This record gives sequence, C-alpha cells and structure tokens, in this order.
Amino acid sequence: MPQMLHLSFPVFDGNESLYLQQAVSSGYLATNGAFINKFETKLSKRLRSHQTVGLNSGTSALHLALVLLGVGQGDEVICQSFTFCASANPIVYLGGTPIFVDSEEESWNINPEILEDAILGRLALGKKPKAIIVVHLFGMPAKMREILEIASKYNIPVLEDAAEAVGSTYQGQFCGTFGKLGIYSFNGNKIITTGGGGAIISNDTSLIEKAKYLSTQAREDLPFYQHLEIGFNYRMTNMAAAIGLAQLEKLDQFVQKRRQINQRYRELFKDFPGISFQTEYDDAYSNFWLTTIIIDEKVTGFSNDRLRVQFFKNGIETRFLWKPLHLQPVYKTVPFYGGLVSEQLFLKGLCLPSSVNLSEQDQYRIFEIVEREFSKIS
Ligand SMILES: *Cc1c(COP(=O)(O)O)cnc(C)c1O
Repeated sequence: MPQMLHLSFPVFDGNESLYLQQAVSSGYLATNGAFINKFETKLSKRLRSHQTVGLNSGTSALHLALVLLGVGQGDEVICQSFTFCASANPIVYLGGTPIFVDSEEESWNINPEILEDAILGRLALGKKPKAIIVVHLFGMPAKMREILEIASKYNIPVLEDAAEAVGSTYQGQFCGTFGKLGIYSFNGNKIITTGGGGAIISNDTSLIEKAKYLSTQAREDLPFYQHLEIGFNYRMTNMAAAIGLAQLEKLDQFVQKRRQINQRYRELFKDFPGISFQTEYDDAYSNFWLTTIIIDEKVTGFSNDRLRVQFFKNGIETRFLWKPLHLQPVYKTVPFYGGLVSEQLFLKGLCLPSSVNLSEQDQYRIFEIVEREFSKIS
C-alpha cells in the first residue's frame, strides 16, 4: 500500500537543517540563544506594529494570555464553541468557566449577534465576562469588525486564537493583531512548525515584557533566584526557533500553495451537487491551512462518514471538522448560546488533505473517489 496521504504534513526543504546545525554548534539548545531573538524579530517585523514572544506551544500561549488578562478563579470567559479544545481548556486551568457561543454560517467563526446576546445574558446574571476568545478556524478570519465593535461597547478584551491562521488577513491586516492579545501555534501540523511551539502577539510592550518574564519562571534580575510571582516554564527553545526561522522564510510560499490547493479542490468539485466549501467572504484572506467541505447528504445521497471510510480505504486521511465544545462530554455543564450552526458543520463536514506537497495527481485521486461515490448512488 502506498504511503498514507495526510491532512497536513510538514515540509522542511529550506534552511531547517542548516539552522538546526548552527544551533547545535552554538551549544544553546534550551531557552537561550540567538535563534529565539531572530525568530521573534522576523515574526514581529511581518506584523509591523506588533511584537511577539516565542513560547513552547499554542496552548501555553493561550494560558499565559489569559493570565495577562487577569483571568482567575470564578471568572467567566466567552469562547467560540466551534474549535479545538485547546482554545478553552486554559480557562479551566485558571479556575474559570468558558461560556460557549455558536458560529455564523459564512466564516464558521463566532457569531457577533449571539456574542452580544451572551454578553447581555451574563450581565443580567451579574457576571461580566473577563475576555472574549475568537478563533480563526481552518485559517478563515472571523468577522473582526463586528466583534470588535461589540467588545468595545461592553469594554471586554478580545483574545484572538490565530493558531490556525498564521499568514491569514482580514481587511489586509494579519489575524492575531486585532485583539488586545493574539496567539499562534507552530505545532507539527500547522502551516509553519517549530516541532512544538507558539507565540503571543501584542502591540502593548508591557504585556510582551510581562509574557517573557512569566514564561521563564518569573525570575527577578538578581544574582540569586527570587520570585515575586508564580511563573511558568513556557519559553520557546533555541532549537525550535532555529526550525521556526527557516519555516518563516517559507510562509508566503506555503500560504500561496495552500490557497492553490483550495482553488483546485473548488474547480474539481464544482459540478458535484451537495458539496460546498467554507466561504472566503469580502474582507477575508485565508491561508487555507485546511481545505474543508460540507456534504449535504440529502443531495449527495452519502454522508461525510461514508466518504471518510472510502478515502481511508484508499490511503487518504480525512477527518470531521472540530466537534463543537458545547457538545463535548467534558464541557456538558457549561453554558452555551446559539443554535445548530456549528453542530451541523460538525455533522456534515470533512477536512481534506491540504499539505504543501500535495500533488495534482493526489488531488485528482481524491476527486475520483468522490466521483465514484456519486456514481454508486445514481
Ligand atoms: C493547534 C491549536 C491550538 C493549540 O496549539 P498547540 O500548539 O497544539 O498547543 C489552539 N487552538 C487552535 C484553534 C488550534 O488549532
């Protein structure tokens, strides 16, 4: 059997080995060394007026960001329900409660109207949410203008989970740079990777300095270890940053490639009735980290799961979209505002192979499998 075609497999065809070797020769592999600074500087430069702190995962970046926003025991934080568990788990690490909000049909991200309902609902209970976590799912920007308007109306800070949206823009501005804080993930399957890694993004220098301080165990600048606060061991390593720098050099190319893959899927699937795609609406420019489709079984005659099994038999990995967090057993007692939008996306959706090195032949093979399912029906 040929090698499995994965959803998102990393490509290391740039300076990764060279920089890694340089990091090894320098003797600095842990949380000191030249590559951390180089990586942060290059990333920050892309974001223009924003600065970044390299961390060891997207999850730790979210955890630290919530600490910086002052989230603690008993606090409520609004969070998009349609996302990976890592968006909400750090709220619970801090003794807080997530309040889940449904998505809107176009971007599949947090619905601004329901967001306002949720804020009003919590205020009526005497609980003002401490923060709003917005996610740019699969790389598609959320409706930031409407979201920021509501956030500022009620004076609640926005934390952008841009883990999947490195390189995506909204009205020409990079995702992750709209909120008080933003985060990226550089996990192995994301659009660029450091093995494992993440970053906090902000245009507030004091928050950036505080994030660095807390991520290295909150050490005071003294000849002995003295601590005024509880810190974390969350800093990015020099080894990870070496790989990250090489990956960052390729980011624009990777985004172009993933967008091409998405475009080609759209062309290949355009005559299949009942199969649709995530909308790249007017203000949005997606990195199309993953191409995702919605299968309307009433029209196609087959379900997303039936297609998934066919793909699997042919050595092709596909996966359902994120199961909304309000439907997760672990979060069953958590308040949810909304309807069935994210639930329907979960029940009908499928993520398709979207790796940068996916070939046209591979995409054609994927097309043929879908075509075959249609021919079985008719
Ligand atoms: C990957 C991901 C994270 C977590 O990032 P890690 O680096 O894996 O800890 C958080 N949120 C979303 C939406 C993600 O896709």
